[in-house]
Amino acid sequence: MTKGILVFCEHYQREIEHLKYKERYPEVQFLFFKGHCGQAPLEWEELKTGLLTNQDYDFLNVLCGGCIKKLPAEEKNILIRDQHRFNQCFHFIVNPELVDFYQQKGCYLITPGWLQKWPEIIEQWGFDRKTARDFFHDSGKRVLLLDTMVDQNSALNLNEFASYINLPFESVKVGLKYLDLLVCNIIQKNQLAARGAQQNETGDIGQKEMADFAMALELLNSLARLQSENQVIDGIKDMFTMLFAPRKVLFRGASETGSGSISTEIRQNDTGFILPVRGSRELLGEIEFVEFDLPQHREKYLNLATKIVNICGLAIENARQYEKIKELSMTDDLTKIANRRQLDEYLQTEWLRMERENAPLALIMVDIDYFKPYNDFYGHLAGDDCLKAVTKILSDHAHRPADLVARYGGEEFAIVMPNTDLEGASAVAVKIRKAVEDKRIEHEKSPVSDFVTVSLGVTAAVPGEKSKLEDLLLTADGLLYQAKKEGRNRVAAAPVEKSRG
Ligand code: GH3
Ligand code: MG
Ligand code: MG
Repeated sequence: MTKGILVFCEHYQREIEHLKYKERYPEVQFLFFKGHCGQAPLEWEELKTGLLTNQDYDFLNVLCGGCIKKLPAEEKNILIRDQHRFNQCFHFIVNPELVDFYQQKGCYLITPGWLQKWPEIIEQWGFDRKTARDFFHDSGKRVLLLDTMVDQNSALNLNEFASYINLPFESVKVGLKYLDLLVCNIIQKNQLAARGAQQNETGDIGQKEMADFAMALELLNSLARLQSENQVIDGIKDMFTMLFAPRKVLFRGASETGSGSISTEIRQNDTGFILPVRGSRELLGEIEFVEFDLPQHREKYLNLATKIVNICGLAIENARQYEKIKELSMTDDLTKIANRRQLDEYLQTEWLRMERENAPLALIMVDIDYFKPYNDFYGHLAGDDCLKAVTKILSDHAHRPADLVARYGGEEFAIVMPNTDLEGASAVAVKIRKAVEDKRIEHEKSPVSDFVTVSLGVTAAVPGEKSKLEDLLLTADGLLYQAKKEGRNRVAAAPVEKSRG
């Protein structure tokens, strides 16, 4: 049996323990070094004296962010493959693209492990409350917890930390799938390499098999970076096609076929075989191999496929989770339409697209009239229902594929309409105003109507040297304000005004 050691930062210890590798890979030992965030990088030579004693191992792998300077290439004459020094340790738990995405949005990322120790860490950094505030305000607009869900106190800790430094905060549930995929991959790759070295010594080589397995794991590693479930499934099919040259590889998802119809057993027939694809909790589907170019190798293929298929399951789950997180970060919880973040992104891309096409981009801002008295009188639950009803009306009226309806904040919405001029957008706004009133949602406290009404500001511009995106927003906002001032329940429309100065 090949024995291995994986070294991690203690800030990920609970995550690793949660994944129960002791049961799954009893021959692998996990060691943890003391967290060292935000300080001068550690020297491996120093660090290892406190960690490695006289353990016997075939492979050693250190996983870290920038906290360790240079990792060893060799240890006890054992070659260490694929050192895992990441740009940022967040890459242990989420796709690097997602990390970039959040950081570009001005989020200061933290993990439950870090969060658990924040007072200690800040003290180590030599900060008092004022310097801590200054530091975090310079570092980001908001705090975002990448929640691996191993710590029930995270929400409380997050609250305390964010109020200490006085920044808004949120959390995304990232779970443990990405980490699991990463760790399983590393263990399997190393076991394989170590086994290869041992077999080489005895002359008993399964070279081709070994190389195939290595290639599969390499490919699976890159699958972790793909984003959508379909991309990952296509990647898995390509990988098996490369390895076994079957006539066809088919994947059937449990959700499409109904999990009852998918067998948990490996099934073989005259020309191929079918394997169940398992995730960490449930059966995800099955993969079928139909006819091989070299049917005499079928046994060997089956052997290899069985070994890799579990990692495939993790890769699929990881992609699902990625999609879910991305979607959550782009949609509004209550109304399920685009949130402010998605609106900002969309406005920017469409503004540039319209500039290239020399076509107009229209923006409608919508605000519910006297919504505060509505909430106060009918209660927040009724208020929420009203927001949903208005959302539905807006979505029904902005029906071109490129139109985007977003919740701008509280009871304010925005509609982006590419390739639409002021006249077209105004016509839509007029219809929306009428449709909301015609919905007859009772509003006893509104001075302008017996029912819920909205005010709208509409503008449009052809992007170019003379007009800026910022002006589009300012103009729409100004027009909305004008509609309010002129008595509410109305539309104010005008072309974009250039900003003064
Ligand atoms: P105006 O006609 O000038 O727009 O007045 P208003 O009362 O609609 O505007 P104001 O900005 O004073 O109040 C907005 C209210 O919207 C405050 C809050 O009660 C309510 N609100 C904001 N977000 C939500 C939400 O998510 N759910 C509910 N139920 N109410 C919300
Ligand atoms: Mg309002
Ligand atoms: Mg408002």
